[in-house]
Amino acid sequence: MRNCWRANWKKLIIGLIVAVAAGFGLYLSGLDTLPQASFPLFDRVLLPTSEDRILIVAPHQDDEVLGAGGYIQRSVSVGAKVEVVFATDGNKQGKKNLRRTEALSAGQKLGLTNSQLIFLDFPDGNLSQQSQYDKFVTRMTGEIASFGPSIVITTLPEDEHSDHAASGRAVKTLLAQGGKFKALFFLVHADRYPRPIGDAPDRYLLPPLKLVNNYSWQVFVPTAGEQSQKRSAINLYRSQMSVTNPILRQLLQSFDRRNELFAQVTL
Ligand SMILES: [Zn+2]
Repeated sequence: MRNCWRANWKKLIIGLIVAVAAGFGLYLSGLDTLPQASFPLFDRVLLPTSEDRILIVAPHQDDEVLGAGGYIQRSVSVGAKVEVVFATDGNKQGKKNLRRTEALSAGQKLGLTNSQLIFLDFPDGNLSQQSQYDKFVTRMTGEIASFGPSIVITTLPEDEHSDHAASGRAVKTLLAQGGKFKALFFLVHADRYPRPIGDAPDRYLLPPLKLVNNYSWQVFVPTAGEQSQKRSAINLYRSQMSVTNPILRQLLQSFDRRNELFAQVTL
């Protein structure tokens, strides 16, 4: 009888261990980004002042709004000088002219005039190709020398889109070569990021777990008005918000959040 009890207890304990382990595994596999409750733990990003000169380097027409649409508006409203450089022509689907028109409209929505938008027109999808990349670094060296930014904002070198990674790598390289600016990076394309995907404007944008320890992540909190204008600017990119490409549409919608998220790189 006693042996029978012992055998049953052993089975029960083993069963519990298996259940806890399975549950823990499921929990971990579902946890791609930090939980929403972690938001207050993040430092606020450096706010722009009237003295600042802010250079945004967008790999494609829409990245400037997705990553920094709120920060751009704040920069304009405090009287900072702002310039947006579009690295590629956005012509992957033969929509170069349309995307340029959309960029001008979205820029206006954020408070920018056409003269503040610069189109470098490198071929979409080829920025990481060595000869294109070298030319891009040369062009960016010139832009930085002439504009003299105090803050440069672009996409993270770890971004999974090769144009985005190339843009981040170029800015990081120019910083390492003695650039006299602060560099802020944002992420657009990463596996299972952002979370949740799609339209959730009341949620926070938080870093993916796999990159959380790589950088000092900082948040910018737009006003309700700035968030609303950013949403309108995203919607002006109609070619990217088409219902015929729901995955891309959901990705763009995912950046209308209560905060923008930047990784500060200091060398
Ligand atoms: Zn892009």
